[in-house]
Amino acid sequence: MEETAKNIDRLVTTAAGWGGRPDRWIVPALYESASEKAGGKPVSLVAAQKIIEHVKEKDRVLILDQFGYIPNMPYGETDGPLGVASLARAISFGIGALPILVTGPKDIAAARATIKAAGLNVLPLKEALQYKKAIAAEILFPGIGEDESKKTATRIIDESAPKMIISVETIGPNKIGVKHSGAGYDAEANDKIPGLEYLFYEATQRGIPTIGVIDRGNEIGSGTIEEAVRRITPYADVCRCPCGKGGACTVPTDIVFPASVSNWGAYAISAMLGYLLKKPDILQDDDTERRMLEASIMAGAVDGISGQPIMGVDGICLKGQQGIVNLLHAIIENGLKGS
Ligand SMILES: [Zn+2]
Repeated sequence: MEETAKNIDRLVTTAAGWGGRPDRWIVPALYESASEKAGGKPVSLVAAQKIIEHVKEKDRVLILDQFGYIPNMPYGETDGPLGVASLARAISFGIGALPILVTGPKDIAAARATIKAAGLNVLPLKEALQYKKAIAAEILFPGIGEDESKKTATRIIDESAPKMIISVETIGPNKIGVKHSGAGYDAEANDKIPGLEYLFYEATQRGIPTIGVIDRGNEIGSGTIEEAVRRITPYADVCRCPCGKGGACTVPTDIVFPASVSNWGAYAISAMLGYLLKKPDILQDDDTERRMLEASIMAGAVDGISGQPIMGVDGICLKGQQGIVNLLHAIIENGLKGS
């Protein structure tokens, strides 16, 4: 079990991005720090076990992503929606729980379309509750600024009563509340971004377990390993915006999972859920991966590196994404054969 998870984590922390980008060396180091925080165990294993422990049939799980900002990615990027959709699928098909998408107005269209492409219908919470299977709910998070965000977060947690909250590539604030792009610039220079981090502050107060999947350190969850992020990730300690406090996000989660592409971290958790539940099919296959990527682009997402609506995630082409999914399937299916 631990060997399978270790191989999964090695795969999803392998760098395949553009030359000269920092991901060729930062993620394995960030991962080491995250694994230490997880008791020295593979993070995919600890995350999947935590989901299985806390989430039962008919329970609800909030899943979120958010990176839409002007001008680079006005309707979000392809990293995030596919990870959210993969987890929605795994949680619905594997456990029979209800995944609830929560994100801001810029990002919701891409995430919704991607979840549908993964094989789940997506409806407002009240309607979703009337369906028995293959269903996800969505709740819009429009709150901007401290007061509005806090109110929105409280309302959403009250009405959805989640057993867990999982973030995949959700931009988060640094120690003075500024949200940074991966390149260390102020992402809110043109437009404020909804305060999804308040869901995590509220979850901590109420004892709701949380997971954050990250790939740089400017996302929710990075606060768990902030010291490592500041030491390892470019612009995390000293940013390129006037705030001068660095891009490291200070919002912690119970488990943080640094992967080379945040989607891949989410896939690793889906794969491990499939392995532990002996239902490997809950992880999407490569054809579904293609449909998911296409759906996210058609709904407004762009590849986060090129900024283009092309079939890529963080500058890595569709075949690369499908390769990860295929290898994850091989690892868990062969692992199950031997057990
Ligand atoms: Zn700054």
